[in-house]
Amino acid sequence: MTSAIYLEKGRDKSLRRKHPWIFSRGISKVEGTPELGETVDVLTKDGRWLAKAAYSPNSQIRARVWSFENVEIDKSFFVKRIQDAQLLREDIIKRDGLTGYRLIAAESDGLPGITIDKYQDYLVCQLLSAGAEYNKSLLVEALIECFPNCHVYERSDVAVRKKEGLKETVGVLHGSTPPESVVIEENGVKISVDIVNGHKTGFYLDQRDSRLQAMKYVQDKEVLNCFSYTGGFGLYALKGGAKRVINADVSQPALDTAKYNAQINEFDISKKRAVFLNADVFKLLREYRDQGTKFDVVIMDPPKFVSSKNNLTSGANGYKDINMLAMQILKPGGILLTYSCSGLMGADLFQKVIADAALDAGRSVKFVERFEQAADHLTDSAYPEGFYLKGFACKVL
Ligand code: SAH
Repeated sequence: MTSAIYLEKGRDKSLRRKHPWIFSRGISKVEGTPELGETVDVLTKDGRWLAKAAYSPNSQIRARVWSFENVEIDKSFFVKRIQDAQLLREDIIKRDGLTGYRLIAAESDGLPGITIDKYQDYLVCQLLSAGAEYNKSLLVEALIECFPNCHVYERSDVAVRKKEGLKETVGVLHGSTPPESVVIEENGVKISVDIVNGHKTGFYLDQRDSRLQAMKYVQDKEVLNCFSYTGGFGLYALKGGAKRVINADVSQPALDTAKYNAQINEFDISKKRAVFLNADVFKLLREYRDQGTKFDVVIMDPPKFVSSKNNLTSGANGYKDINMLAMQILKPGGILLTYSCSGLMGADLFQKVIADAALDAGRSVKFVERFEQAADHLTDSAYPEGFYLKGFACKVL
């Protein structure tokens, strides 16, 4: 018999709005002894059925909803979710000429804790919830049914798995180990992805639309691409006719791939049109400022600075610091393209941080455009947390 959880009185509101999380404090009773990740029925205190969810006894988010309909959580459930996700992306894939895209955006695709990126024939899974782990083999079977020629690889080497009582794990789930370089294409730009050793699932697909939008600001400009990783923004800047692009990152393998990416796109990188600089951005920006080196465009796409509510203030200060420095090294009339992937810092707060940075930099700053995550990283209307990436184009006087 399926185990069940009963909610406290009045704690069914968010579920009725189809939000998929059930917090531990909202539960009045657990019936049965569900295992880590097992599927349970969710009922109101007085026994009315609400949803099927995955039970996660170690997490504050005690259960995550698989379905608001009373269906079996079996292979065909996963097949349907994957088919729906693919359907939602078909036009974007065609429009942007994608051979790499986010197939499953977790909660927003009705699969809590499951992220799947597709790079050519390689499906790369990141399983972050107990329910995802519990149903791993069904999920893989469903992926094989939907994409019979694909290989499935797991990159669940993510610390948040601890909160769900899970260990980090990586490896082949089906087919063979991905080669060191799988070349994908987006908007006519080729990008080499190292699925096994790269960050996250290998590449930051979420910045694709912002990279494309950045192109219109760079023609004949001197561009500094901070936190370049494998070149993303820098490649689009070269395509957009930048006079010169300096890509700065602390990861040498990422910079080596960035250079390789410039080569496979056959961009002219002679005469130092593209520079790949191994440097700590915090120090580099101060050096440029102290030397009086100036740029027309600065791109600022740092790693996530806010990982929990507890470090929101220090994270916000980190964003303020680097954006202040970026403003100080811009020529009058220059452009700052700045982003934050910290989901816990909303767009309003990020805008305030930029305003504070402007005051500290002593520069007049005008917002001219807003950005968000790429279209394949869609957000379900019931799950506003899905919006995590935001950015601004700012003119700096
Ligand atoms: N803009 C990239 C993604 C950036 S991810 C893209 O579009 O693909 C963040 C990057 O910041 C990583 O490559 C990481 O190596 C780098 N990084 C982290 N701390 C850094 C620091 N202090 N200085 C320079 N790079 C840093």
